[in-house]
Amino acid sequence: ISPTIAQRLRKLNPRQQEAVRYIDGPCLVLAGAGSGKTSVITTKIAYLIQECGMSARRIAAVTFTNKAAREMKERVSGMLKGREGHGLTVSTFHTLGLNIIRGELKALGYKPGFSLFDPEDVKALLRDLMNKDAQVDADQINQVQSIISNWKNDLVQPGQALSHASSEDEQFAARVYEAYVRHLKAYNAVDFDDLILLPVVLLRDNPEALERWRRKIHYMLVDEYQDTNTSQYMLVRMLMSERQTFTVVGDDDQSIYAWRGARPENLVTLGEDFPRLNVVKLEQNYRSTGTILRAANTLIANNPHVYDKTLWSEMGMGDPIRIVVTRHEEAETERVASEILTRRIKQKAAWRDFAVLYRGNFQARLLELKLQHYQIPYKLSGGTSFFSRGEIKDAMAYLRLLINPADDNAFLRIVNVPRREIGPNTLEKLANYATDRSVSLFSACQEMGLAEQLPARAVERLGRFTHFIEGVRRRMDGGDAIAAIRDMMREMDYEAWLYQNTSAPTIAEKRMGNVWILIDQLEKSMKADPDESTASEDTETDSVDAAISRLVLRDILEQQAEEDDSDRVQLLTMHASKGLEFPHVYLMGLEEELLPHRNAIEAGTVEEERRLAYVGITRARQTLTMTLARQRKAFGELMDCTPSRFLDELPPEDLEWEGRADREDPERKQERGKSAIAGLRSLLD
Ligand code: ATP
Ligand code: MG
Repeated sequence: ISPTIAQRLRKLNPRQQEAVRYIDGPCLVLAGAGSGKTSVITTKIAYLIQECGMSARRIAAVTFTNKAAREMKERVSGMLKGREGHGLTVSTFHTLGLNIIRGELKALGYKPGFSLFDPEDVKALLRDLMNKDAQVDADQINQVQSIISNWKNDLVQPGQALSHASSEDEQFAARVYEAYVRHLKAYNAVDFDDLILLPVVLLRDNPEALERWRRKIHYMLVDEYQDTNTSQYMLVRMLMSERQTFTVVGDDDQSIYAWRGARPENLVTLGEDFPRLNVVKLEQNYRSTGTILRAANTLIANNPHVYDKTLWSEMGMGDPIRIVVTRHEEAETERVASEILTRRIKQKAAWRDFAVLYRGNFQARLLELKLQHYQIPYKLSGGTSFFSRGEIKDAMAYLRLLINPADDNAFLRIVNVPRREIGPNTLEKLANYATDRSVSLFSACQEMGLAEQLPARAVERLGRFTHFIEGVRRRMDGGDAIAAIRDMMREMDYEAWLYQNTSAPTIAEKRMGNVWILIDQLEKSMKADPDESTASEDTETDSVDAAISRLVLRDILEQQAEEDDSDRVQLLTMHASKGLEFPHVYLMGLEEELLPHRNAIEAGTVEEERRLAYVGITRARQTLTMTLARQRKAFGELMDCTPSRFLDELPPEDLEWEGRADREDPERKQERGKSAIAGLRSLLD
């Protein structure tokens, strides 16, 4: 039998209990890594339902990454019985936003079946818009994309952007922004940032909508609060300003998304906006050994602090932290792989007990090869995810077109995949015609006027394609939507196309397998939580649409298709590791210019890199190993590497160096470290 909520509460320490029990006003839990903040959130959800009798439908818990949301969901569902958790929202901020948009399409002025543009779609659209003024390169597009994204995160509308633009570049970006927003709307599409921006603007400007959502969500819980950006904070504030019933937990030392618009000062703003805020601090760490914790505390003490925190642990000192210096990056990855192999046996650990963390995804490539070589099962998060594969992009484009025929990017991706002999000339004329008439490519195909622009054969082929899609859509509406989608793949013989366009049959087979996995996934997602979308009147087809939207969202969040809790070594960036914990952690590439990253050194944002290292270190429960290479390939050349300054900031007596000939006494080591840093700084200044 599972423990009662009273028993669960007793397992928490008095401060945690206070945070769980405090339900009449706003509550902030501010505490360091591993102190049980997420545990407070999960227990509190169960407490609200089981002790306070709140309906799960009225509770929304949000966090930042899919992985963290999934983990939270698992922890909560382990505490709830039967249908107690029915209708509970535990999701990312963006999924919550998506659900609000889905429930408010009319108020937002969108048609049903809107599309979610992924960053590639956004780039394509920006390229079109920017090329009108001048020939632009990829760098300029990226730059404008990030400026627009920042504006959206800060709730700056195109008009405001234009009137505040000070430089010529900003004015240009603001004009593109204006056109971009207009075009997205015309495509009935939203981008990733809109998932937060649109709900915020709606709730701000539309009192009825605000009232609807306030009635729907009575209690909010936010994990990793330090990484909220302005619009996310506004969303929480608007939903909760009346009832003032929310719990947010965070750690300013783990703020690592400033580059994406996160505002750790939201911690302070919260106290100003909600004077009744109850602040709870937690100080006991339940995750890591004393040595690991001391290293983390010593490192982060080098940063200035909003609030001072002291963390202690009763876990015993444990093993020293190992620093392994290797000749080059290949030796580094070789070392990590072979150590995992032997340690697994020696310490009787499972594969999943190991995590390898790194600064950039590129570091994983070599590691993957080594792990494959040793036949070590692993799971790579982010990077080349399932969703970035060509066949998945194709299948997704079909799905997107099925829910929104006006999705021109989806149309263009697959109109000729598999081959339908629709050439670039035809498409260009079609595009011109569609632009002139301000309609989508799909509906342009069906207009009579097109016959004047294109030869009859071309018109017929386009017609056949749109007919095909409409036929599938009708079958979806008429009954088993998933079966209709599977039939579609078979009827157009996508498999044959894969075989023709892939070098080896085994690869084609695997790719087709991926497509089926995607469709299975879609089916599961419909069955698993038909009411995850908050619009409860959903019909069957609506729920296909909802499930597809969720898939597109996952795609954007770069998730692996399989909910994979099998026994594998976890490979993740330090950014993606936030909130997670593993018995044995390897941190790779502890070198200047890698961690801290070169760009951060140049931009003077080393403090954020230090927080990133802090996040990485505090993921470890029992052992922590840091590796670095003396030489690494960069820009096609072998470069000498300098050990990271962060190594010099760790307590020398807790470190055990390997592979370094010059075992110095700690004092000299620190001196040398300092002069190396000074030397490097003067080089960079
Ligand atoms: P992070 O800042 O990394 O997100 P956190 O503050 O959210 O960490 P949790 O993940 O909630 O910390 O907890 C860390 C570990 O400590 C988990 O394994 C959790 O089960 C355990 N834990 C939390 N509270 C207690 C407690 N009162 N007694 C024993 N173990 C606890
Ligand atoms: Mg946490």
